[in-house]
Amino acid sequence: MTVLPANATVTILGAGVVGSAIAYELSRAFDPAQTPILVLEAQGEEDWQATGAALGVLIVHLSRRRRGRNFQLRQASLARYETLIPELEAQTGVKIPYQRQGIIEICTTEAEAIATRAWLQAEAPQGVQWLSPEEVERQLPLINTRLVHGALWATGDRQVAPKPLTQALRQAARQRGVWFAYHSPVRHLQRSPQGGWILNLDQTSFETEYLILAAGLGTTPLAQTLDSPVTVQPVLGQALEFACETYVNTPVMTAAGIHFVPLPWGRVWVGATVEFNTQTGNPQALAQLHERAIELWPILQTAPLTQQWQGLRPRPSDRPAPIIEQTDAHTWLATGHYRNGILLAPVTAQKIAQSVSATLAMRNRRSEAKD
Ligand SMILES: Cc1cc2nc3c(=O)[nH]c(=O)nc-3n(C[C@H](O)[C@H](O)[C@H](O)COP(=O)(O)OP(=O)(O)OC[C@H]3O[C@@H](n4cnc5c(N)ncnc54)[C@H](O)[C@@H]3O)c2cc1C
Repeated sequence: MTVLPANATVTILGAGVVGSAIAYELSRAFDPAQTPILVLEAQGEEDWQATGAALGVLIVHLSRRRRGRNFQLRQASLARYETLIPELEAQTGVKIPYQRQGIIEICTTEAEAIATRAWLQAEAPQGVQWLSPEEVERQLPLINTRLVHGALWATGDRQVAPKPLTQALRQAARQRGVWFAYHSPVRHLQRSPQGGWILNLDQTSFETEYLILAAGLGTTPLAQTLDSPVTVQPVLGQALEFACETYVNTPVMTAAGIHFVPLPWGRVWVGATVEFNTQTGNPQALAQLHERAIELWPILQTAPLTQQWQGLRPRPSDRPAPIIEQTDAHTWLATGHYRNGILLAPVTAQKIAQSVSATLAMRNRRSEAKD
């Protein structure tokens, strides 16, 4: 049976990477002993939704869209990663696989190489350099050089292992006093007479003053109670894992829309497909991914396939991803991160923590004025 605390001022729904990052950032913003924080997660601690399917590729410098809110979020999040990883490792004592060799984007056609070089010249993005086919051949012996027409190397882009990251966020938040309750699906939300929320679980209900919805695809049914409901829809992705030893410091590569992610434990992840309007992976899409990956990285031809999986990315249906906002004096949404939830979790957490802190500070000033 789920054990819940006596009370919680702030409750987060969902312990994927987004909810866990928020829990950690809130625990740094204020003391959970004074302002209790609870995370309610529908599944078990070892069960995963979108976060467990992700490849953890953190692309910022290679982004073609370099203006506007989304790009700013990406930049801020990657900057936070550089401090967050050592911070979490120091607090938990757990090593988080975080690759700092940059990401290499391969041009597989001459037309792509021409367009890419033109973009490089026009935008002159910091930390991105052009590699000739000869340089690629020298530096990346694993790629099929017959298909290489040059490449971009973004030295500042990164890759992180999503599950160890999320586990470290949870552990660090727990150490700082945040309460996590697993197997605790919230079925229904109700406004409390005080303006906060009553959360209805299977066996019980729980009252909280402030609520943060970070439930990924689980947001849609819950958000119908909000003044402006939001809808988050699934976009399916399939990926493959191979047992494959790569050279030390082989960077993450991306070619023809496929990521090749070498992992420190002798595995390579390859993916992911992007499939709309379905909750079941198309076997043909997976077979094409497999075939194309072998063509691009011939080493995979003889590498045993150790895993294949699929996951559902939470994508807002009628607005841009992600949704990070306060919807009223007691409620925040942190959801709909679609293809970039691992990348954007740190900045999402910072933004939510700032907003919650400001709301709490205002509430405290008001109650002091009354006394
Ligand atoms: C194949 C694939 C590859 C990807 N690769 C990348 C990548 O390389 N880089 C990147 O940045 N992103 C990537 N993504 C996207 C990324 O995985 C998501 O954007 C991110 O995981 C979303 O995190 P989340 O915490 O919002 O959602 P989730 O991980 O889905 O977590 C939501 C949690 O809320 C819980 N929940 C739902 N409803 C309730 C309820 N009623 N009560 C209590 N709890 C509830 C769920 O059980 C779940 O644990 C990929 C996704 C897929 C599928």
